[in-house]
Amino acid sequence: MKTIAVANQKGGCGKTTTAVNLAAALAMSGKRVLLVDLDPQAHSTLGVGHDPEALDVTIYDALINPKIPMLRVIVSTEITGLNLAPNNILLSGAEYELASLYGREYILSQQLGTVSGHYDICIIDCSPSLSLLTLNALVAGDEVLIPVQTHYYAIEGLKQLLETINIVRERFNERLKLAGVLLTLVDSRTMLSKQIQQQMRDYFGDMVFDTVIHRTVKLAEAPGAGESVITYAPDSKAAAEYKALSEEILNEHEAQIGVA
Ligand code: ADP
Ligand code: MG
Repeated sequence: MKTIAVANQKGGCGKTTTAVNLAAALAMSGKRVLLVDLDPQAHSTLGVGHDPEALDVTIYDALINPKIPMLRVIVSTEITGLNLAPNNILLSGAEYELASLYGREYILSQQLGTVSGHYDICIIDCSPSLSLLTLNALVAGDEVLIPVQTHYYAIEGLKQLLETINIVRERFNERLKLAGVLLTLVDSRTMLSKQIQQQMRDYFGDMVFDTVIHRTVKLAEAPGAGESVITYAPDSKAAAEYKALSEEILNEHEAQIGVA
């Protein structure tokens, strides 16, 4: 199982939208996918049609209680091949409870290890912070995917995140690499958006995915229906863009296998 953490300490840059729709696109291309909702706001749980309040057990239980196996927490979704490790507001307390546990940075990694044989890819939706939960995601991850809204201050925020990734690599997880920077909420009609896209590509070079995600109302509507955009509006530009992203990720993966 390859694990990709979708992270950026900035809120509203498209982490949840990317985690849900990338996971859906990968599942629909035949992969066995686990989506892990690691944000106490539970937006990706809602986004694939589950009611966070109606769950008996969530990832919170698996994180703070070693007797609860990950398999007990995982639920299926409407999409064949896509399972969810759901979440609800209780997870906001996990931060505090985790802090006193031995090996607190490795708890998610260990729990995911117990189910890794069941999945090809795991996508983790992180909360908008560099918290202990996000640290657990970076320690569990093989790669980190960074969605970035194209605006002038994005590069500054990214530098801080890249520094954190370097620290994680040095201290906890030397295999962690950057899957890439994904430009989101792109508005091609404005000169500003074009300039910033170019600035990002100049600065980050190959680290930026070829695929960009444009701003479109379908992506904002789909979560209200408890669906990914891939099922909610299969013929939309947004669905095509997230499918293209999933292909870019799979091709990169296969290219690496080819080299090895
Ligand atoms: P994050 O998880 O980083 O906080 P979200 O994915 O929840 O960000 O996105 C923030 C808001 O913007 C949500 O309401 C979401 O529906 C909307 N949104 C995200 N990406 C797009 C897009 N490409 N086009 C239109 N709306 C989007
Ligand atoms: Mg989110």
